[in-house]
Amino acid sequence: MANTPQVPGNDDAQTQREIDEVFGTANPNPGRVGCPSIEELTDLAWRRLPIGAPGYEHLTKCSPCYREFRAIQSGNDPGSRDPRG
Ligand SMILES: [Zn+2]
Repeated sequence: MANTPQVPGNDDAQTQREIDEVFGTANPNPGRVGCPSIEELTDLAWRRLPIGAPGYEHLTKCSPCYREFRAIQSGNDPGSRDPRG
């Protein structure tokens, strides 16, 4: 355990950008089939749902939802809720 090398933060950011690019464009889902509500996306983004929640799997199949999910995580909540409230 003590020999675990430090992972540079840059690497994580780069990996996250690549994940964003893949999941954010790979599955356009123009009909928004099976999409959860913005409330559920918010719960997913803030990790208020268990890791086995079906919404997480949906994010891997639906780019619009994934982009909304990431926007919520980065503070650009497209919904009406004020995160400060
Ligand atoms: Zn969706």
